[in-house]
Amino acid sequence: DQNLSELDPEIAAVLDGELARQQGTLEMIASENFVPRAVLQAQGSVLTNKYAEGYPGRRYYGGCEQVDVAETLAISRAKELFGAEHANVQPHSGATANAAVLHALINAGDKILGLELAHGGHLTHGMKINFSGKLYQVGAYGVDPETFLVDMDKVREKALEQRPDVIIGGWSAYPRQLDFAAFRSIADEVGAKLWVDMAHFAGLVAAGLHPSPVAHSDVVSSTVHKTIGGPRSGFILSREEYAKKIDSAVFPGQQGGPLMHVIAAKAVSFKIAGTEEFKDRQQRTLDGARLIAERLTAADVTGAGVSVLTGGTDVHLVLVDLRHSDLDGQQAEDLLHSVGITVNRNAVPFDPRPPRVTSGLRIGTPALATRGFGDAEFAEVADIIATALVAGASADVEALRARVTKLADAFPLYAGLQQY
Ligand code: PLP
Repeated sequence: DQNLSELDPEIAAVLDGELARQQGTLEMIASENFVPRAVLQAQGSVLTNKYAEGYPGRRYYGGCEQVDVAETLAISRAKELFGAEHANVQPHSGATANAAVLHALINAGDKILGLELAHGGHLTHGMKINFSGKLYQVGAYGVDPETFLVDMDKVREKALEQRPDVIIGGWSAYPRQLDFAAFRSIADEVGAKLWVDMAHFAGLVAAGLHPSPVAHSDVVSSTVHKTIGGPRSGFILSREEYAKKIDSAVFPGQQGGPLMHVIAAKAVSFKIAGTEEFKDRQQRTLDGARLIAERLTAADVTGAGVSVLTGGTDVHLVLVDLRHSDLDGQQAEDLLHSVGITVNRNAVPFDPRPPRVTSGLRIGTPALATRGFGDAEFAEVADIIATALVAGASADVEALRARVTKLADAFPLYAGLQQY
């Protein structure tokens, strides 16, 4: 029974290297976060050994008495946190949660209507080579070419024209809030079910800092690892009338044995998400994103062609618009990487550059808020980003990197963590 470092030094080195990378850089990928130590402990536990096909109290394997407790806690905490009638906490990821939602609500060949992938939608909302685009007839609504906002009159027009069976609200890259009540009324008007995918903004909803889609929707899906900051995984909330269909769509419809170590870690995350500290973290997440949007909007007047889509943000991310900059998305991502800030390039709607390079960046604040950043630190990060993007190729990378290191050192991450 060897330790990892003896048994597999190559993989041990990856764990060490990745911990050092996370500690020494500023993580601003909008879909990422840092799980607390308690989540690492639950997830790296002996629960990974257990087969538990089925649901608590009705399993297809013996010996489930302990894992039943974990899953029951995860379910009741998820229901309470979001005020939902039913919760399924077994999806391995956001994508498998979404596959189960469509599996439960409609049949192959039926119609779905979601946000265009190139305008911020997700692969599972109908991308051509994703299961969603292969199994279902796909229609899409986009953002307005002037405002870059989802215009509910246009969504209604599309819905009336296409008569979808399911309308999808939710996004992977959109800096504003959606009008869930308007989605509900459109769904009712055309006889569609409403599914909201809150993967990105679920933490804000849990904290009461973003409108909740739960009361308006037939089904809500989410990930746990983005703003919530839990283990990489998914879950589904629904009205009681869909409970049986959702449960059987997840298992045996989409998955076999649930990942009980991850489900235990989800339970821990949902417990944390009910605390005042969590709410404070989500507030700093929002405030940080707003500060970055303001600083980049101010950079716009320099004539460097660096601005922010929709002129700001109401959520945890900012979409940087580089259509008028000499830097493309790839170059901007690489430049920020060289100063120690990790972001991802992102196509802006109606992007004139090819998808390989894009004209945008998606910058998120959840991970740094978890690290403890407040207004002062986010203002400094905003200044580093704006200075780099405005200067472009002539940026003083060394000086900026020193400012990043100073911030990272001031907010130690996983201090003293023994990974193995
Ligand atoms: N739904 C949305 C809106 C997302 O942004 C994502 C993540 O990228 C997913 C679902 C999929 O989550 P996962 O990567 O866990 O499959």
